[in-house]
Amino acid sequence: MNSSHHKKMQKLLSAYRNRLLTYKAELEWEWLAVNEDDRRFENIMSIAHRLNGSGKVYGFAELSQLANELEQACETARHLLLTDSTSIISGPLRALLNVLERDSSTEDEERLTNNFPIYTTCERDIAETIDILLIDDDPDFSANLTEVLTQYGYCIHYQEDIHQLNQAIAQYEPLALIVDMDFSGQRFAGANQVRTWHQKDGAPLPVFFISGHDSFDLRLASVRAGGTHFLRKPIDIPKLLSLLHSELRLAPSDPYRVMLVDDDSDLLSLYGSLLVEAGYKVTSATNAQDALSLLDHSHPELILIDVYMPGCNGIELGKIIRQHEEFATIPLLFMSAEADTDMQLACARLANDEFINKPIELWRLLMVVKSRVTKGRYFRTHSSSLTVAETQVSQDPLTALPMLSKLRLDIDDALKNQNPDIITAVIKIDIRDFHSINNLHGHYFGDDILQRLAWELAQCINTGDTLYRQSGDEFMLLTNSYGSQAAIAHYIKSLVKAIEDIHITSSQGTIALSVDIGVAFASQSISSAGELLDNADTAVFKSKKSILPSVCYFDQSMKEVQKKRFFLGHAIKEGLASNQFLAAYQPIFTVNEGKMVGVEALARWMHPDRGILGPGEFIPLMEEQGLISLLTERMLTQSLSQFAVWQSKHPELFLSLNLSARDIQKPLFLNILASLLSSYHLDSERIVLEITESLLLSDWQHTRYLLRKLKDLGVRLALDDFGTGYSSLSYLQRIDAAKLKIDQSFIRHWTHTGDARLLKTMIQLGKTMNMMVIAEGVEHNTELDFLSQLGCDEYQGFLTAKPMLADELERTQWV
Ligand code: C2E
Ligand code: CA
Ligand code: CA
Repeated sequence: MNSSHHKKMQKLLSAYRNRLLTYKAELEWEWLAVNEDDRRFENIMSIAHRLNGSGKVYGFAELSQLANELEQACETARHLLLTDSTSIISGPLRALLNVLERDSSTEDEERLTNNFPIYTTCERDIAETIDILLIDDDPDFSANLTEVLTQYGYCIHYQEDIHQLNQAIAQYEPLALIVDMDFSGQRFAGANQVRTWHQKDGAPLPVFFISGHDSFDLRLASVRAGGTHFLRKPIDIPKLLSLLHSELRLAPSDPYRVMLVDDDSDLLSLYGSLLVEAGYKVTSATNAQDALSLLDHSHPELILIDVYMPGCNGIELGKIIRQHEEFATIPLLFMSAEADTDMQLACARLANDEFINKPIELWRLLMVVKSRVTKGRYFRTHSSSLTVAETQVSQDPLTALPMLSKLRLDIDDALKNQNPDIITAVIKIDIRDFHSINNLHGHYFGDDILQRLAWELAQCINTGDTLYRQSGDEFMLLTNSYGSQAAIAHYIKSLVKAIEDIHITSSQGTIALSVDIGVAFASQSISSAGELLDNADTAVFKSKKSILPSVCYFDQSMKEVQKKRFFLGHAIKEGLASNQFLAAYQPIFTVNEGKMVGVEALARWMHPDRGILGPGEFIPLMEEQGLISLLTERMLTQSLSQFAVWQSKHPELFLSLNLSARDIQKPLFLNILASLLSSYHLDSERIVLEITESLLLSDWQHTRYLLRKLKDLGVRLALDDFGTGYSSLSYLQRIDAAKLKIDQSFIRHWTHTGDARLLKTMIQLGKTMNMMVIAEGVEHNTELDFLSQLGCDEYQGFLTAKPMLADELERTQWV
């Protein structure tokens, strides 16, 4: 936080702290005669309400909590229509009074740093002076440059000694640095000092290195020191000016104008000064009348309105504003601490925008305001030449980030102006499991996460790099700040660290974010933005495939893999169309008597060139491409008609079939199953469907639906690959499966180590839950003997029978 900002915030905080005693006195006063006048009770409640909100924003967590308790106690008392409310509210009130007393006198710095954000990367329109620090050991050259830049409105602070860099930055708080490379007798001293400062402080100030020479070494040093630009002396002044202009994002236009309306003056001054600090022109009003009278002069581009205000509430104010033709198009944004859905809907309808919950975190306020005003102004100034679609793609309303279309233009620019010493890279960032987060916690929470991630990332990227939102949970970063791939890798590591540090609390606990990252470097052979974006896509795709989130760098071999997958996908579709997929059947036996009791149908691909292929070759891709339901259907029709034949001779047999996650989400097979069961007159009890724990866990809502349907049909369930997932026992009980299939890895483990603990536990577990236990992958007699000792019911394995095609199985003595 820069120190002038710090001072302002300090002032606000201490003013608030001083007011705490006033609040305390007011509460005590109202309390004195609370039973004589209803208004006193209402006043206590409204002070509590206010302290609840402002306490949180100013970092007085306990105070806010106690105020909240008092407010709720009042609510209860009002609800119960108590004539004597003192009994209910006196406890919470006392507690609050104590804390008000305590907090009004304790000074702590931490509150400040913890609660107020840093705005350095926030775009701003600056009306004040723009301080720039110039460090060069040539006083004459410097005097001249200072003179020129001063003419253009910059305020230059000159320092001759590079070793004074840190002190000078602290003293002048510049918005940019211009630093000479070589100092008398010390080559690269400029770069070295800046580099150490960057490592220590890391504030994303643009750094312009200047030098009398130009060489690869110098440029590399400048890049490694985090330099934004490298300019050769004599300086090309127009170029420097235009670079400064774009680096500092100085808009030639006026600051954005925002109006705040809130009856809570504590919040009003906090939000107001935050926005002023970020470069906005702010008009504040504590009630509707003031707001209306100020509208004429202030011409706000956005009005933020608190909903609950005495006299005329926020919605009413909004409607009055809308009645004035000249104000009818000003965007409105409502905020409130109340979670009354009807009211929120009314606000959303009136404003045609989202509704903001108070207390709003300060960084979110900045983001929300910025996205509205920049888009609004852009639209107004370009409305004649733009289509609506164009304005919609230019900026993402949720995060205020530029979007894909802008990224394409920027990449094209970067490719055209490629500097051999700088590497352009596109970094694609994709949140792991965002889909489940959204499903589990709702879309509002999902939006929160996206905003938070956008904000945190924007805080730690280099000046000059740009962050974009591509779509959904995908963010893109375009970097032009480094000269080596190693430096970029290092940079990405720091971003990943920052993301992993984000913890978001919801009503259901705390969520830590993890991301998949794909990186693509620009090179001579890449000629279009599309190509570079495709490469980043391919890389992130690979990362997503790995079990743990990772950073993947694009290389040509990934394209080969992609190509192979593409052709495989095609071949699979052809194979499905021409019936190349057949069921193989593996017999299942009782452990004790070795009697065959059933078969498991396992898919095989009769590949025209490659022979018989197992499921490992095609199921993952089928699941990914949504083809698995076709396979399931094929397996059902084939195996049920075959099974009908076998069953007529051996009515005690059962048929087991495997389901996959997609089959659970979209149980298209249910109708087919039902009609097959009836047309072959099969006893549905004889059909077992195998599902895995992890697959169930992924989507409980769909699972429940499916389970109900299957129960209606009368088919049974088996839990497949048991022990490899993470299910809890209560979960397993709810599923109510008839069979438990112990994964073959447990048998292998026992065979290889002699350690039987897991295997034993698993079998016992099945028994306690009254399930039939089947062991998979039995290859040796010793294994079978041991299973018998452990009381396992059934087994399948190469020891007795491999999976076989129907005719092959018919040649055995079993069917
Ligand atoms: P799974 O359900 O665990 O099936 C058992 C797998 O173990 C089969 O592999 C089987 O051939 C193999 N196996 C059986 N006994 C032994 C043994 O003694 N030793 C060893 N090493 N392996 C044994 P397969 O046929 O390659 O199937 C692999 C997986 O593919 C299956 O595992 C199942 O998850 C999936 N799958 C097979 N067919 C279908 C299907 O039609 N639909 C779906 N969704 N998945 C299927
Ligand atoms: Ca299975
Ligand atoms: Ca299995």
